[in-house]
Amino acid sequence: VGTLSVGSVASPRGAALDEAARRVIPGGANTVTRWIGSPYAFTGADGAYVTDADGRRYLDYHAAFGAVLLGHNHPVVNQAVISAITDRPDLIGLGITELEIEMAELLTSVIPSAEQAVTVMSGSEAVAHSIRMARAVTGRPLLVKFQGTYHGWSDSVARNMISPPERAYGRDPLSAGILDAVLDATVIAEFNDLDSVRALYEAHPEQIAAVILEPIPHNVGALLPTQEFVEGLRTLTREQGSLLIFDEVITGFRHSLGGYQQVCGVLPDLTTYGKAMGNGFPVSGLAGRRELMERFDTAGGDVLMAGTFNGNRVSAAATIATVSYLRDHPDFYERTHRLGQRMRDGLAALLAENGISASVSGFGGTFNVYFVAPPVRGYRDLLRNDARAYVTFHRRMTDKGFLMLPIALKRNHVSGSHTDEDIERTLDAAGAVLKEMAAEG
Ligand code: PLP
Repeated sequence: VGTLSVGSVASPRGAALDEAARRVIPGGANTVTRWIGSPYAFTGADGAYVTDADGRRYLDYHAAFGAVLLGHNHPVVNQAVISAITDRPDLIGLGITELEIEMAELLTSVIPSAEQAVTVMSGSEAVAHSIRMARAVTGRPLLVKFQGTYHGWSDSVARNMISPPERAYGRDPLSAGILDAVLDATVIAEFNDLDSVRALYEAHPEQIAAVILEPIPHNVGALLPTQEFVEGLRTLTREQGSLLIFDEVITGFRHSLGGYQQVCGVLPDLTTYGKAMGNGFPVSGLAGRRELMERFDTAGGDVLMAGTFNGNRVSAAATIATVSYLRDHPDFYERTHRLGQRMRDGLAALLAENGISASVSGFGGTFNVYFVAPPVRGYRDLLRNDARAYVTFHRRMTDKGFLMLPIALKRNHVSGSHTDEDIERTLDAAGAVLKEMAAEG
């Protein structure tokens, strides 16, 4: 077994596990972005730290793509799950359980636009349901998506994520096997540019069922929406008879208890949730106004809602524990936002000190460095991002024991388990890496 590397750090056990995985799992990974040119194999996780197969500890800012919000293996969430699997029926497949009711009551009590909620198993499913619902309600075929956003793997949205300049805004499917007709039913606009959305309405009158957006497109770091843009989308979609869908799979519960809609005060028609809501356990949700949600056939409507594992006890217990914890600890957001701001300010100072032209972005506990001069308002500005510098920065930070996903434009997350001292240590390491990068030119 050869010694491959995690960044430049030798990882013999990681290499062995990688070889074993490749024999039985295509490419040795269960989802595409987990394989990034080095064997990463983890055997431990606790609070803000993860441990790799060779016993090396990393301060974790990857946070499982943002699914871990309170910290790894959080005792309150783990205990709730253990109690659920000890005391509750496993899976019945008929009717409802008390945990499912409690979960929906909690979600509808904290999400501003939610009168009803359903829970599914992944963000991709929640998004697929929201799009089908929008088409059913409006009787229209088209979906507006923004260049750079990611909404999961389903056919209508698996396109135009991190597109190269020659394919941006055009036809850029993420996968083979998507029908042309489905690709053509999604049209692409520019984030923070209301005119680009207006132009699509003009080109396709009465054809657009919905506009879907990550209110902060975190799948390309953190493009911050202007208030004018989100309010403008609300007004425009209403005027045009389309639905407005907020995909809060990342922003939900992370940026505030009620998600980004609570922060910006703009209420969508439908909202999708996932990731942080179960603090690492698999669960996602779709919420909205009653008259829309009751179009689901579970309520006698005509829109299919199905899933064998929907509402299972592990997902429900993890969600109830995570969301109640957040509700009962209002200082959680003040703290993670403060630490996030400290990180962003510190990075901005280090970049200036080293004469590197870059833009620090983020919201709440999230942060990232775009290697492009400010301002960064929309995807168009990211076309000039120096992806090599972005990846080098993340990879070298990971080598030093600060886990940051080495993929261009991916954001980093401060969780409830990070401390001021963690931020200080991270900034010290970032200073050393940026100094090296500046010296290399
Ligand atoms: N929506 C957003 C904003 C996401 O970031 C993701 C996943 O990264 C999804 C939807 C899809 O969620 P899942 O991976 O749980 O299917």
